[in-house]
Amino acid sequence: MGNGLSRRSFLKGAAAGVAGVAAMGLIGAPVLAEETEAWDIETDVLVVGAGGAGVSAAAEASAAGAKVLVLEKAGIMGGTTNLSGGVMQAAGTKYQKEFTDYQDDTPEKHAALWIKAGEGTVDADLVNDLAQGAPGHIDWLADTCGIKWTSIYGHCHIPYVDDALFADRIHVYEGGGAAGSGGIYVKAVWTVAEANGAEMQLNTEVKKLIQDKDGVVIGVVAEQDGKELRVKANKGVILCTASIDQNKEMAKRLSPQQYYDLNNGVCMSVGTDTGDGIRMGMEIGADVAGFGGCIDFCGKTGSGTDNRTPTFPSFIVNQNGFRFVCEDATYAYHYRAIFQQSVALDGATYMIFGKSSITTSVAVASGYASWSEESANAEVESGALFYGETIEELAEKIGVPAANLKAQLDMWNAYAAAGEDGQFGRRTGLEEITGPFYAYKNVAFNLGALGGLKINTNTEVIDVNGNVIPHLYAAGLNAGGWIGPYYPGSGTAVMGTVHWGRRAGAVAAAN
Ligand SMILES: Cc1cc2nc3c(=O)[nH]c(=O)nc-3n(C[C@H](O)[C@H](O)[C@H](O)COP(=O)(O)OP(=O)(O)OC[C@H]3O[C@@H](n4cnc5c(N)ncnc54)[C@H](O)[C@@H]3O)c2cc1C
Repeated sequence: MGNGLSRRSFLKGAAAGVAGVAAMGLIGAPVLAEETEAWDIETDVLVVGAGGAGVSAAAEASAAGAKVLVLEKAGIMGGTTNLSGGVMQAAGTKYQKEFTDYQDDTPEKHAALWIKAGEGTVDADLVNDLAQGAPGHIDWLADTCGIKWTSIYGHCHIPYVDDALFADRIHVYEGGGAAGSGGIYVKAVWTVAEANGAEMQLNTEVKKLIQDKDGVVIGVVAEQDGKELRVKANKGVILCTASIDQNKEMAKRLSPQQYYDLNNGVCMSVGTDTGDGIRMGMEIGADVAGFGGCIDFCGKTGSGTDNRTPTFPSFIVNQNGFRFVCEDATYAYHYRAIFQQSVALDGATYMIFGKSSITTSVAVASGYASWSEESANAEVESGALFYGETIEELAEKIGVPAANLKAQLDMWNAYAAAGEDGQFGRRTGLEEITGPFYAYKNVAFNLGALGGLKINTNTEVIDVNGNVIPHLYAAGLNAGGWIGPYYPGSGTAVMGTVHWGRRAGAVAAAN
């Protein structure tokens, strides 16, 4: 058996995987080739899922001359990538030199930031590989796929990461940057794949992987129009079905923050991203990596998403009425803390601001206040905001100790007067807050879970014994280990779809 995988270790891995998915209440078992009577379709490279990773894999594999088939569960291609802003991070591109002041940024600095933000949990080889590959993908998207890059911005600071590692790296293309514009990228890449001969079948859900007696993945079982479809893949199967975004059972077991969001927040990923590729990989003994975190942000204020937009004068408190995080740090960093406090103290956290924040602050003059007096009052009326003539009255409304909230407000105002946040190093919107006061109950807007199948830099899926599962690949958010316990900043995920998708397509096509 090739790739160092013995039949015995495969069976051991498979057994562990099946036990794992069974424990999640997901009944299933790999199908061995002997059980298959006939193939309905034969291809070289089979791509499962037509989001950003799937179309990138298809484009690369077809460019290498392989016959490519993409099976997509939904009625349209694009997945969550369609809903995204399509922004992508890369360091050292010609566009970065053209649009920003960062003239000597490097992939090494970029990787160092991602690794530090990974808090010791990321696979450094994967992160370095991604950072090194990113600038080339920016060129490929422009030169081969016709994407037109038009601007670049940066993401917000992370308290323990050296500022010298930051740069404006988030590339925005024409028509991109707003939710829903990721479809431009998907369409552009699929157009290339299709011109190379790649084919796609929609409304087709892949259910199981098929292996031969040596454990090599040779195809899949899918369902189309209520009928079973057996698809043979001579060069390999690439799983691109994203993470466990909409799967509560898997989240409960693998990702407490995703589970919390699915119960208490708003998950914006497509409904078809139910962790199928991860489950299918686990069924045949694949290991997982990078689970735990997710892409959370404040859908109301967008705090910490863009280094050009300061966070308006407001602070976040827990059930004890105290601050616990730097509010203008990058969004998923501060949202992880919101999750942790919500769980640790079994209650909501609140964003506190005053009439001054929305009427007389610099934020109002500069246009980045998240509410006007009118919209705030309307939300008080509708129950979306809490209101108190005094801070003590507000404390009572939200059920936190009044003395603590008052002490926290006084401390904040002292820091504002001194021009320095002595608690958490807040950099923007550090202005005096005066009443009457408002409180907004924080609700996570979840852009998907982090974590997936364990891969190496060739996107080969690794089993629980550390061996490659032959001819099985994972890309995009279906793969884990390349993002840490929280999302480090916009543009990481979609760049990961291009990078790991293209790599998987190239490696599989070369089999
Ligand atoms: C509103 C929003 C904005 C965002 N903005 C950005 C941004 O600007 N930049 C950034 O980097 N990140 C952004 N993100 C995150 C990013 O969009 C996603 O992490 C990324 O696009 C996921 O890509 P993917 O290819 O791995 O998965 P997807 O794009 O979700 O594709 C997975 C596909 O697999 C299909 N599928 C699932 N199961 C099966 C099955 N069994 N058989 C066949 N097909 C299956 C699904 O239907 C889906 O089409 C945003 C997310 C959201 C929700």
